Amino acid sequence: MTDCLFCKIIAGNIPSKKVYEDDKAFAFEDIRPQAPTHVLIVPKKHIVDIKEATEQDAELIGYCNLVAAKIARERDLKHGYRTVYNVGPDAGQTVFHLHLHLLGGRQLHWPPG
Ligand code: AMP
Ligand code: ZN
Repeated sequence: MTDCLFCKIIAGNIPSKKVYEDDKAFAFEDIRPQAPTHVLIVPKKHIVDIKEATEQDAELIGYCNLVAAKIARERDLKHGYRTVYNVGPDAGQTVFHLHLHLLGGRQLHWPPG
């Protein structure tokens, strides 16, 4: 997708603070961090969001969760962390390229606001 912010970040056309990259996934620091660790994990494939994903994407979506766990281990988030998809306007989704938020490094409230 040419007109997608996160595709441009993955391609390196918009700068980001890269945390992780392999052939399937890319992870970078959120520009407006909501916790000491706030990393976005995105599949390199342009998928709009989880509700637009198909069974063909199942492995890739699962893989992004494992990348999040790997980053959490590297950050030593042994007291816990949260992974979140914001889906649609009620959840405040603003970017329409599937991304998993990894939040940690502070006490996270439940239920989330
Ligand atoms: P969401 O509300 O789930 O769609 O999350 C989009 C996230 O992308 C927000 O947490 C933003 O702070 C973050 N974001 C927007 N633009 C950038 C950018 N250029 N670099 C890094 N993170 C960004
Ligand atoms: Zn995209």
